Amino acid sequence: MSRSVLVTGGNRGIGLAIALSFAEGGDKVAVTSRSGEVPAELAAYGAIAVKCDITDAGQVDAAFTEIEEKHGPVEVLVANAGITKDTLLLRMSEDDFTSVLDTNLTGAFRVVKRASAKMLRARKGRVVLISSVVGLLGSPGQANYAASKSGLVGFARSLARELGSRNITINVVAPGFVDTDMTAVLSDERRKEIVAGVPLGRYAQPAEVAAAVRFLASDEAAYITGAVVPVDGGLGMGH
Ligand code: NDP
Repeated sequence: MSRSVLVTGGNRGIGLAIALSFAEGGDKVAVTSRSGEVPAELAAYGAIAVKCDITDAGQVDAAFTEIEEKHGPVEVLVANAGITKDTLLLRMSEDDFTSVLDTNLTGAFRVVKRASAKMLRARKGRVVLISSVVGLLGSPGQANYAASKSGLVGFARSLARELGSRNITINVVAPGFVDTDMTAVLSDERRKEIVAGVPLGRYAQPAEVAAAVRFLASDEAAYITGAVVPVDGGLGMGH
């Protein structure tokens, strides 16, 4: 079975690992990003890259149209693209707050809404949203990011109720700290502090997040919807 899969922010980091995992499984994969580039290891599987800033509904619509022409309607959507703009509340500008919400939460709304029309017609679909352990635990200096990531949980659970009767599942994966560009900016000291709080005592590799996403998109996960699946080495236990 070769499905039409879209991974937003699939040109690097966690999104790339997710895209590779679907491509290795034989799916037709499209990745979007603001740069519109596709890394060679992913292009080797015939995956396509589409330039698309998810803060722009027009670009989202155009990207879906292009993907539908090349691969057919999106059957598996992974809303992965995300940003951070960390700072303490008193220093956080309104733009720091709203731009993170616009990318991480409203961006997911834009792509899920665009995908869902075709999924409803097909009476099947799989949606996975990439949240974060921070959305549930909170983190000083990340009020904007945490708000966007916990917002994804309410968004997903509402849609799980709204779309379930049409055989569309929508789940959330909440990674802990993962080795990517996003976490490369943290100081060695901060990294040590983080790892000290992780029962498994290390960061995750992007492929370890991808494995959970691929499972939630598989036939084996047909009865799982509205779930929040942690891939965090135990960091967020208790939620
Ligand atoms: P990276 O910074 O490595 O990659 C972010 C991706 O998002 C890039 O592909 C980037 O592409 C894309 N992106 C950002 N803004 C936009 C936009 N406006 N429109 C389209 N694409 C955009 O991050 P990670 O791989 O680390 O993170 C991926 C997801 O996982 C994010 O949602 C992040 O919040 C989440 N996460 C990450 C964790 C970590 O420890 N790394 C932990 C928990 C969650 P481009 O810049 O080319 O547009």
